[in-house]
This record gives sequence, structure tokens and C-alpha cells, in this order.
Amino acid sequence: MRKNIVAGNWKMNTTVGEGVELANEVAEALNNTPHNCEVVICVPFTHLVAVKAVVDTDTLGLGAENCSEHDKGAYTGEVSAEMVKSTGATHVILGHSERRLYFGENNEQLLTKTRKALANGLTPIFCVGEVLEERENGTYNDVVKGQVEALFELSPEDFSKIVVAYEPVWAIGTGKTATADQAQEMHAHIRNVIAEKYGKEIADNTSILYGGSCKPTNAKELFAKPDVDGGLIGGAALKADSFMGIVEAFN
Ligand code: PEP
Repeated sequence: MRKNIVAGNWKMNTTVGEGVELANEVAEALNNTPHNCEVVICVPFTHLVAVKAVVDTDTLGLGAENCSEHDKGAYTGEVSAEMVKSTGATHVILGHSERRLYFGENNEQLLTKTRKALANGLTPIFCVGEVLEERENGTYNDVVKGQVEALFELSPEDFSKIVVAYEPVWAIGTGKTATADQAQEMHAHIRNVIAEKYGKEIADNTSILYGGSCKPTNAKELFAKPDVDGGLIGGAALKADSFMGIVEAFN
């Protein structure tokens, strides 16, 4: 059966020293708190090696926030999936709306990045979500369907290794959370889209996380919905106590 997962996305925040401190706080809190979900922190590339040195990735997953679509070579500034894996990381966020919007990442590139991540044994946390205009003009189901379908060239075996994160762009960092009913409606839609392509078993086993202004105060209601299998957490992942408050929403 699918796993419940709470994953933090630190984005471009913290120095290495601050990141190691935060990772230590989360790791310690997790050791002292019974929890009913898998927990992952996704950190800047620069932090991976230092954070890996202080966390046990069997109990706290460690992810990058992106990886290159290329394997190696003359791509100045890029970081390959193999490099990410070589730090000891276990996960990688792909297709975050900030990558799609500010760095022009498209479906084709994201399929390639996903293939590279999988080939290197990383678990992709693949983000999808509509912008406000698409929510308001009613095209959001089709938009998200198209984003999920970008992965439909993957074999069933490969697709079954993906974690999906539904992040309505209008809810990211805005303090505006999708209602639990809006999240449930979209998560059920995503699961149906997956089922139509890969069958019910793979769809039922796919963890679909919600992201967008998720906080300790709203996590319980969101996670109580049958198709919401956890969260991808931005702002609230930057403090161990608020992140743990969300982890504990599964208790
Ligand atoms: C995110 O960017 O992945 C996110 C969910 O951010 P926030 O929680 O800050 O809205």
C-alpha cells in the first residue's frame, strides 16, 4: 500500500551551517517523536554532503531540489542525478513550479530528468499544479492531467517509483491553502489519470502529496482526506518545530 510522506523543500534558504543545524534538529526530533509517515528533507545542492553526514537516511530521507537532464560534460553550473546520488541522497524534487515558471522547464525536459533520477536510484518527487488563472478559468483538471501525462512514457515499473506532489501554484508561499476538499478532488483526479494509464494497483500505490501553505494548523484536515498521502512543505519546513508539527499530523 502507498506510503504517507512528509517532505520539506528548503528552496534557496540557509547557509550550510544553518542547514546542518536544522537537519540535526529535525533528525533529533524525529528520533524522539513517534511518527506514522516517512520524512524527507530536500536541501540545496551545496548542503547535501554536510547534511548527509549528520542524518541517517534510513530514518530521514535526503533529497535535492532539482537535477540536470544531462549526464555529464560541458554544462557549467549543472548537477547531474549521478552527482546527487553520490552524495548519499535518496530523493530529488523535479518539476517544482518555480523551476517550470522561472527556469522554463518543460514536460520533455522533466521526463528526461525523471529518467536520469530513476536510473541513478533516486526517488523523484514530481510536482504538478495549476496557476491561479487556470484554477479560475476551470482548466485546472486538464492542466494537471497534462503534467502527469508527461511521465507516461515511463514503464509501469519506473512509474511505480514516482511520488507525485500536487502543488497549486496559487497556494505556494501565499498563505492561501487549497481547501481539503479541493485537494481531495484533485488528488482523486490524479489517481484516476494514473489508473487509466497504469491500472488501479499502481495508482493505488502512488503516494500523492499536497503542497501549498501547508502548516501544523491545516495539515491534519488535509491529510485526513483519503487521497492525500502527505505533504511537500516549503516555508514551514524551515523551522524544526513547525515541520514536526506537520509530521505529527499523521499521529
Ligand atoms: C513548495 O514550494 O513546495 C511549497 C509547498 O511552499 P509553501 O509550503 O511555502 O507554500
